[in-house]
Amino acid sequence: MKRIVAALIIFILIPLVSCAPDTPPVHEHSFGEWTAVKEAACLEEGLMERVCACGEKEIRTVPALGHEVSGAVCVRCGKKASKGLKYTPGEYFDCYTVTGIGSCRDADLVIPESFFSKPVTGIDENAFRELSGIKSVSIPESVKKIGRYAFYGCKDLMILGIPDTVIEADSCAFSNCTGIVSLRLPLGLIPVGGGTFSGCTGLKNLIIPEGVKNAGAGMFSGCTGLASVSLPDGIDGGWGFSGCTSLTSVTFPADAKVIWSGAFAGCVSLTEMKIPEGITEIGGGAFRRCKGLTSVFIPGSVTSIGKEAFKECEALESIVVPDSVTVIGDSAFEGCSGLKRAKISGNLTVIGQRAFVDCSSLEEVTIINSVTRIEARAFRDCKSLKSVVIPDGAEYIGYEAFFNCGALESVTLGSGLKKIDQRAFYLCKNLKTVRFNGTFEEWQKIEIEDFNSPIRNAEIIFAGQE
Ligand SMILES: [Zn+2]
Ligand SMILES: [Zn+2]
Repeated sequence: MKRIVAALIIFILIPLVSCAPDTPPVHEHSFGEWTAVKEAACLEEGLMERVCACGEKEIRTVPALGHEVSGAVCVRCGKKASKGLKYTPGEYFDCYTVTGIGSCRDADLVIPESFFSKPVTGIDENAFRELSGIKSVSIPESVKKIGRYAFYGCKDLMILGIPDTVIEADSCAFSNCTGIVSLRLPLGLIPVGGGTFSGCTGLKNLIIPEGVKNAGAGMFSGCTGLASVSLPDGIDGGWGFSGCTSLTSVTFPADAKVIWSGAFAGCVSLTEMKIPEGITEIGGGAFRRCKGLTSVFIPGSVTSIGKEAFKECEALESIVVPDSVTVIGDSAFEGCSGLKRAKISGNLTVIGQRAFVDCSSLEEVTIINSVTRIEARAFRDCKSLKSVVIPDGAEYIGYEAFFNCGALESVTLGSGLKKIDQRAFYLCKNLKTVRFNGTFEEWQKIEIEDFNSPIRNAEIIFAGQE
């Protein structure tokens, strides 16, 4: 009897197995809220986790809080504020600024809220610059301004306790503090100069909480240990992650309209960039020199691609500029030496200066009819370009626009053309035929400036003549 049952089971199972899909369905984790496993303390990191229904857990560390100074002690642990620091009084002796370490030897530097009964409102430029031995810095709410290079190069510094009140941080205030691994960006920190945390190469765990308005002015540029960044909603004062060479993942705010200028320049580990729907402007140099970028998706909400936005993205093979785009800035795709295909659709009227200069692999470019001007050097040195069709709406081909496009064999010029500027087709040594979508009379009215012998010497085929 057992054997029969077994046989039956096999009989039933076989068709089931053969009907099963070739690959099991991919389960995408859906994590719940982050919950604290261990609360962070003044000098100790905390732990949080979130769990998927399948049991998979994600864990992240919470940066140590630093001391929360009120008066001269920490309200959490009772640690006393540092003594022996150097101060300078304000103009009216109503406040003090910390100017240096003085005789203090604390590894845990706790700036007091007041000195001689007057509030401590600032930390002077260079105050603790390149001091070793400082492991943590805690700053009280009374401080409103941190001067430039105040903690620059404090290589032993690991923990920053900065309150969420408004504090202006001048240039490079915490630059090159290579020991900081975990950081929660304080809500009110305003980068008045550039590069607040630039060159903090040890930084791996960056938490930008909701409520932060500004992470701009190169705030994290050159933080080469940072692999992922998650930007909260409402952050609109710039994003500064240039030169974060390990960055592979970016989570954009759901309400973002702009990819800020220079935001991800030189982030060579970014390989794919899906710009989210809703973005209207890709800022100047936003992805400049992202040399690992092989694909970019530009959504239909984008109207403007800034100057140098994708300059020298050498691995990029194709680009589709959607209908919504009305501006391609100067040098937007300059030096994209791997770019083979560019499709420009939509309502664009001007192809900016140097927009595609030096795209030495570009074989195919489609230019739509709304384009009226092709500016200077737009396609200069595009050495693989074999043919190009200039639409009827185009009136102007700029200086050196197709200079040194040595592979160019055929050019179609639109009937609306009024001027070909100097050297526009200079050194296009293979240009033999030019098709013109107009009459001989119209051709004769086109102003062709000097150094355009390839055009002058080419066989001109007029519309309807073929
Ligand atoms: Zn799961
Ligand atoms: Zn404490």
